[in-house]
Amino acid sequence: MKILSADYLLPISSEPIENGAIAIDETKIVAVGTTGKLAEKFPEATHENFGEAVIMPGFVNCHSHLEITAMRGFLDDVEEDFYSWLIKLTLTRAEKLTEKNVENAALAGAFEGARAGVTCFGDIGRLGKAGFEALKTIGLRGVLFQETEFSPKNEEAENDFAKLKDKFLDLRENETELVKVGLSPHAPYTVSRKLFEKITEYAIEKNVKITIHVSESNQEKDFMESGAGFFAGVYENLNLEWNAPQTSSVEYLADIGVLRAKPLLAHCVKVSNKDIKLIQASDSRIAHCPKSNAKFGHGIAPLEKFLERKIRVGFGSDSVASNNICDIAEEARFATLFARNAANRKRFLIAKEIIETATLGGARALGLDPEIGTLEAGKQADVIVISLGNIAQMPVHDVYSALLFTSNARDVKMTMVAGLEIYRDGLAKRIDEAEIKMEMKAIAEKMRR
Ligand SMILES: [Zn+2]
Repeated sequence: MKILSADYLLPISSEPIENGAIAIDETKIVAVGTTGKLAEKFPEATHENFGEAVIMPGFVNCHSHLEITAMRGFLDDVEEDFYSWLIKLTLTRAEKLTEKNVENAALAGAFEGARAGVTCFGDIGRLGKAGFEALKTIGLRGVLFQETEFSPKNEEAENDFAKLKDKFLDLRENETELVKVGLSPHAPYTVSRKLFEKITEYAIEKNVKITIHVSESNQEKDFMESGAGFFAGVYENLNLEWNAPQTSSVEYLADIGVLRAKPLLAHCVKVSNKDIKLIQASDSRIAHCPKSNAKFGHGIAPLEKFLERKIRVGFGSDSVASNNICDIAEEARFATLFARNAANRKRFLIAKEIIETATLGGARALGLDPEIGTLEAGKQADVIVISLGNIAQMPVHDVYSALLFTSNARDVKMTMVAGLEIYRDGLAKRIDEAEIKMEMKAIAEKMRR
């Protein structure tokens, strides 16, 4: 049994506790309370005080692509033109990177998360295995969503599904207590209707989590609603036929039954009020990725409306190719600033609900809230310590405000998943960070050659 204490403890499920502490036994939280009370209750426990800091549940990053961590900063010169972006990404990956390179990059990305106080990822992988193994190696919790290939043809759905299922089952055999597998039909315009239906049936029958990129851009909206625009050109180049459903992406997913599986919908930037109602009514979830959306110039998803309708929403960094950092504290700050600055704002989002979204919200979006997302007796000990000792954070009048508006990944002192420390004070606990950094430099040189 151990007790961790600090100036503040933030259970999320209840009010902040000054001079607060948490008692942990192996993988689980046993109690939270004031330091004095817990020390009295568990006199045998070891006790560590972090002082000027806050102890809180780990951040949940519900939308990432650890596999393409090596692309950080590599595509910035072409991101104005999504087609060039996609081509540069795909060709570099195919021609320059080995599977081992991708695995090492994923490991670097997963460790970046641990350093940033992320204890749980919802990660999407086309290769799958790279992100899956990275989460395990670093000691993180997460769901790895095995992604579909580009698979727009109904007549090939049978075969596409068989291939996807093979990859999924391979990973499933190697699931652990912490790392599970889900499925990701990529997007409404890259996956055939038949394949969507097959994945949905499978997901419902076998209780598998799914995630989908939805309503991310105007290009997607145009293609879905009228069959025109940027993606029409792509389809034409590939000699593919496209019958636009002539509805929004969300309506389309509702019409073909996909929302019955309560998918985690990433982005939801271009959603109408009707779309939001459909998401709410089906208890689908949302991964809100404001920085990635802004970096591409796609717009701002209506977080205020999602919260108003009590939709299960969490934050996602998206890939570091489009962010370029995995920092959920920063993501939360941007989300707040964007929402407050929106022309049609009805109210001010406040720090408390945003920090809740970054922790419990993410857990709910991934369907993991019975286990994580708050500091409560009986839940898993996924705990982080964020320092409040920087002059730029002082004075602390309100701990939520200090966290949201003055803190970032670099203030994280310690990250623990299921009672085990995976990061502390600049040091990785499970890997040799220097080795991974050298590896990343070597990969980068290879990519630029
Ligand atoms: Zn994505």
